[in-house]
Amino acid sequence: MKPNSYDKSDRPGADSIDPKVSARMTRIRGRDTRPEVALRKELRALRLGYRLHKRPIPSYRRTGDVLFPGAKVVVMVDGCFWHRCPEHYRPATQRAAFWDQKINENVERDRQTDRFLSERGWLVIRVWEHEVPSVAAQRIAEMVQMRRRRSRASEGHPA
Ligand SMILES: [Zn+2]
Repeated sequence: MKPNSYDKSDRPGADSIDPKVSARMTRIRGRDTRPEVALRKELRALRLGYRLHKRPIPSYRRTGDVLFPGAKVVVMVDGCFWHRCPEHYRPATQRAAFWDQKINENVERDRQTDRFLSERGWLVIRVWEHEVPSVAAQRIAEMVQMRRRRSRASEGHPA
């Protein structure tokens, strides 16, 4: 099973943590996780055209899961444990203080990322791993299409 799905087997604390598992858990943003792949499949069906796993701003070390560079929309698929989903986050049962601090750091970093990118004209859309992929894809599509229309309009009528 891929990491980042929100069933309890992926949360630390159920068993003692061996070094290999611990290494995996320090990887905050998994690539090609199950919810991410499901979302991509929906986006493909909508024929929007996207890029994967790129930095919106090359000099800024944050990688988006799905990007729409023309519309300046970046999608982050957030794991319910790692990003403290209000519905599914449960504290770890072992080394609780350690994990609590780690998750706090993740959330703080998420907010910094959102702020930094939005100040530079990017729209950051965060999708929880528990969201229905087709619904999330629809939400993304609306924003992408709106922003593409807007950017075409502004290209046609320079200020
Ligand atoms: Zn959740």
